[in-house]
Amino acid sequence: MYRFDQIVGQEAVTEHLQNAIKTGSMSHAYIINGERGAGKKLLARTYAAALQCEDLRMEEGRPEPCGACRSCLQSMTFNQPDVIVWPRKKPPKYSVRDDIRPFLPDVQVKPYQSPWKIYIFEDAEQLNVQSQNALLKTLEEPPAYAVFLLLANGTDNFLPTVMSRCITLQLRQIPEQVTAAYLEKEKGLGEGNARLCARFSRGNIGRALELSGSSDFSDFLKESVRLFSSLPDMDAWEIASAAERFGAPERLEDFLELTSTWYRDVLVFKSTAGRGDLVFSDQKEDIKAAAGRFTYERLQKVTEAVSLSAVRIRGNVNAVMTLESMLLHIRDACLPGKA
Ligand SMILES: [Zn+2]
Repeated sequence: MYRFDQIVGQEAVTEHLQNAIKTGSMSHAYIINGERGAGKKLLARTYAAALQCEDLRMEEGRPEPCGACRSCLQSMTFNQPDVIVWPRKKPPKYSVRDDIRPFLPDVQVKPYQSPWKIYIFEDAEQLNVQSQNALLKTLEEPPAYAVFLLLANGTDNFLPTVMSRCITLQLRQIPEQVTAAYLEKEKGLGEGNARLCARFSRGNIGRALELSGSSDFSDFLKESVRLFSSLPDMDAWEIASAAERFGAPERLEDFLELTSTWYRDVLVFKSTAGRGDLVFSDQKEDIKAAAGRFTYERLQKVTEAVSLSAVRIRGNVNAVMTLESMLLHIRDACLPGKA
């Protein structure tokens, strides 16, 4: 069921759209801009469901789709004939997707059953110049019933003329606490797990949901925590092989984030004698053990080394080698007598 109040952390945008519906001041064209997983599709589908709803509800002065009328039921099963999503199927990259010209004559055909005919263009930032120019003609004189929702990950590729015809709605990064609270309340996650997933989602609710349901992520967490705990006893060969594993491109970014969060937690634990607020709150015992292995000064050096390694790796220095030297550095910082 589509509801505006189910969209997390995007109040400015949902309020704007609800007000537009309430006052009848809807635009014919919107660009909904945000990164993958930010909630663009959900927002577009909710707005479309609300526009087409046959029994729109007002709840505390805010419109919400009823969830029960013919149109709402069709919306929920993606069968609303007057809500058209492009591309309909995933075409091979850069073939049909970026040329919408053959599709535009459909706009002149009146809606089948509803007051509006709503077009949702996914990956609209990939539309080529010819398509955008063709679309522009439609946007300049749209039929009264037509609504265009262009979902985009970045607006650099849009022609200024297209942008000037659209209202751009910017989805924001959602604060970690908001995501964590949502995962706890709506998805039943434990506090520690919710915080970790929120941290690693980097403000992206779709990614947070993905992580919270992913056994890969929870295995990856366990494997990383095991590495941090056994690091003091590892020899150079074992460290090299760990760097190889964690330096794989699909894990690297998460591993760097995880490492810096972990040692930040250790530092917080040590500097507050265990009273500080930890991200790894479920792993407090491991954090405590790690805090016992470092002096305060060495721990600060470790956290500096971790952020420096992250900077180097993002600057394209060999990732596996840099990870290896970072891990060696951390190991040596734990052992008395070594710098
Ligand atoms: Zn309805």
